[in-house]
Amino acid sequence: MEMTSLLARNAEVLVTMDSERRELRNVSIYAEDGLIKQIGPSEELPMHADTVIDLKGQIVLPGLVNCHHHLNQTLTRNIPAAQNNNLFAWLKAHYKIWAGTTPEASRLSVLVGCAELALSGCTTVFDHSYVFKNGNSVDVIVEAARELGIRFHCSRGSMSLGESKGGLPPDSCVEEEPAILEDTQRVIKAYHQSELGGMTRIVVAPCSPFSVTPSLLRDSADLARQYEGVGLHTHLCETFDEERYTLNTYGQRPVEFMESVGWLGDEVWFAHAIHVDDQEISQFASCGCGASHCPSSNMRLASGIAPIKKYMEAGVKVGLGVDGSASNDSSNMMLEVHTAFLLARLKMGLQPPEGPSRYMNLSQSHPKRAKEWMTAREILEVATLGGASVIGRNDIGSLEVGKCADFFSINLHTVDYAGALHDPVAATVFCAPQKAHYTVVNGRVIVDQGRLATVDLPLVVEQHNLASIKLVEGGEVN
Ligand SMILES: [Zn+2]
Repeated sequence: MEMTSLLARNAEVLVTMDSERRELRNVSIYAEDGLIKQIGPSEELPMHADTVIDLKGQIVLPGLVNCHHHLNQTLTRNIPAAQNNNLFAWLKAHYKIWAGTTPEASRLSVLVGCAELALSGCTTVFDHSYVFKNGNSVDVIVEAARELGIRFHCSRGSMSLGESKGGLPPDSCVEEEPAILEDTQRVIKAYHQSELGGMTRIVVAPCSPFSVTPSLLRDSADLARQYEGVGLHTHLCETFDEERYTLNTYGQRPVEFMESVGWLGDEVWFAHAIHVDDQEISQFASCGCGASHCPSSNMRLASGIAPIKKYMEAGVKVGLGVDGSASNDSSNMMLEVHTAFLLARLKMGLQPPEGPSRYMNLSQSHPKRAKEWMTAREILEVATLGGASVIGRNDIGSLEVGKCADFFSINLHTVDYAGALHDPVAATVFCAPQKAHYTVVNGRVIVDQGRLATVDLPLVVEQHNLASIKLVEGGEVN
């Protein structure tokens, strides 16, 4: 195949996330075949390339990494029966609808969810699909992600423990375990690209402790560990309901239970990881387990607030996820960055850490140690480098020679950032979340001047919404 090149010229500011965390002014990026070859002043770079884009007046950041999503849920956003309940009731309102999704509706949901993500600066998506009924398959999902052009980690997730056996999902929504394992192996062989710059990777991801059996968890871990770069993922420590479930069923706390089925390791990351104690945090750190923080979903379902500053201090890998579109109800990574930043500050609390009285002199400020404040640059690091390490990649998350040409730009000179440009990098976090002007994945422009370049988005949205109405009105809500 012939070499393809990209020249992205004249960025006003470029955030590298390299080892020195350099922030450069007035620079350009030159990439060949999806990899960055040069970053520097325009005059030092090649004059021509197959594709040339102009980044004048824009800030460039490494592409955001979404570590937890269920793309099929774009079809079931905002369902009235599930607007005001927490996780277990919310799941029960959705299971049968999801199981009724057609392959074509799934395809449309992947296009819509990934489009929304790309427009919000996301370049790598992990989709935790786990409902494979009604003819659905990883093949449909991967093909749609390829059509859109996003870097994609796809799970062959699963549910095997129906209600009649003590699980949460209805029996009609779960699969047989031998079939799950067989299909998982098939899709690893068919799609997993462990090499540098791989656009598609497979993750083995049983849904949760209350929807699969311990033996499926063990077998899934054994299977994933036979292949290089195949990750392991599940929901964990999301709610107290889940904690009660593992305590009642197995006599173990969730983390203890996962340890007993061989699920602590550096290829493992957990979605949410909210309800953990200090000892479990150090266990994650010593085993190399990562956490995907999903603040909007956790607020929406009133699940709790993950202790991400504690994780970061302890050396636990932390990334951000938008979570399924039905509990967010969006797929906007810049919104997630903004929300995670604010929520980490709220989690820190307003009370002074010490002192005899809770009633303070009003002229005193509340003393908090600097390390307890979440900073704008820290949360950007979580959303880029952090996410990359959580999903097991060292070729994305920063803009450096030899890394993937995955980045996005935002216009700085707009009303949204007016008055905030003394620190344009922090403005992207403090100010209202903005859409990408350009999003580049693997050296290819997929958002071009604010518009999706790879699919006819208005048409896809129209078809998606017809599929959504048909699915929700035809599905069972209960
Ligand atoms: Zn989830």
